[in-house]
Amino acid sequence: TTVNYPTEFKGFAITDPNQWDHPKLTSYQPKHFGPHDIDIEIECCGICASELFSLKNDWSNDPLACLSSKYGPKSQVVGHEIVGRIVAKGEKVTMYNIGQRVGLGAQAYSCLDCSRCKSSNEQYCPHAVGTYCSTYQDGYVSQGGYASHVRALDHFCFPVPESLDSKHVGPLMCGGLTVFSPIKRNIEGITNPRVAIIGIGGLGHMAIMIANALGADVTAFSRGSSKKEDAMKMGAHHFVATSEDNDWKNQYVDSFDLILNCASSTKALQLNDLLPCLKVNRRFLSVGLPHKDEEFDLKPIQFFSNGCTIGSSKLGSRQEAIELLSLAEKHGFKPWIQEIPISEAGVHEGLTKLDRGDVKYRFVLTEFHKFFNT
Ligand code: NDP
Ligand code: ZN
Repeated sequence: TTVNYPTEFKGFAITDPNQWDHPKLTSYQPKHFGPHDIDIEIECCGICASELFSLKNDWSNDPLACLSSKYGPKSQVVGHEIVGRIVAKGEKVTMYNIGQRVGLGAQAYSCLDCSRCKSSNEQYCPHAVGTYCSTYQDGYVSQGGYASHVRALDHFCFPVPESLDSKHVGPLMCGGLTVFSPIKRNIEGITNPRVAIIGIGGLGHMAIMIANALGADVTAFSRGSSKKEDAMKMGAHHFVATSEDNDWKNQYVDSFDLILNCASSTKALQLNDLLPCLKVNRRFLSVGLPHKDEEFDLKPIQFFSNGCTIGSSKLGSRQEAIELLSLAEKHGFKPWIQEIPISEAGVHEGLTKLDRGDVKYRFVLTEFHKFFNT
């Protein structure tokens, strides 16, 4: 079933990580259309810091995967905080109708058959394919949402509640879901949970709102004090400027049920002082994924006083994405966004400003219909 079915998609792509900040408008062939696939005509797309790491190829020692792909484009489009309407669906798609509005995050495929998929952990499926820069079994490298259209498995497209604006839903699809999942999983069943959020950027600012909506007492950690007022407005109850005051290291000992690190670099992370701030057997989780050469500076003795655990978390499940959207609807929280109309100049502006940390607190590329004539 198709409406306005495009044989080629258009998007902003790079072929060289040295030109990461200059994606150019290109046309390309979408991946093979599977029976459970959906084509989304895109309305808007958030800009996530993961895209900077991917475009610069900072997480990998190999060349960009698209350059050696067996078929499909030899260029790379990123974008994975997508909202739009369904314009085509495979013959086995029953959960959606043409015209319905859906969101798509950083995952576009999983097998839906393994133990992880069957336990609402499809983000950890060994066959998982990301929405961009990720290779399908047939060799096609996925192309993301700075584009006219995107193709993904129906399971990873989430129904958007009528009352929510697309531009506010976009950032929830990757950044919001990535922080919702570990916060929910780690405070469930705890009375008066206390959560620390480190790094008040795209993910961190949504983490403050989400932890607050889930009933936690929230402490925001930022390198400086410039974001204090904003963080308190977002719903933080306490604020720590880690480079400006030192009292926190004593003040917060034995305080948190969860420390969620959303910082994109470990350079300013004082891990040896943070771990004692956890209550007994609680977790420090890093959703922040820095450059491949960065490491944790960590002394094993720091685990000893409270039996704490350190780990990570990836994206979230479909079930959690749907829960997050209804939480946003119920509590009325919205990501703080800055809109940029999509174009070559707009994509350049969003990427370079995010790279400089000049964002409050998430860029969303908008006006796709106008630009792509869709
Ligand atoms: P942003 O750039 O919007 O925010 C990052 C924040 O990190 C900044 O606001 C800043 O907070 C803090 N920070 C600490 N040190 C540095 C530094 N040296 N340079 C710049 N910022 C620094 O990024 P996003 O929120 O979009 O992404 C955060 C991280 O999460 C990235 O590493 C991204 O790849 C990762 N990510 C992981 C996912 C997962 O599944 N695990 C999914 C999506 C993203 P402050 O000023 O308050 O100190
Ligand atoms: Zn992301």
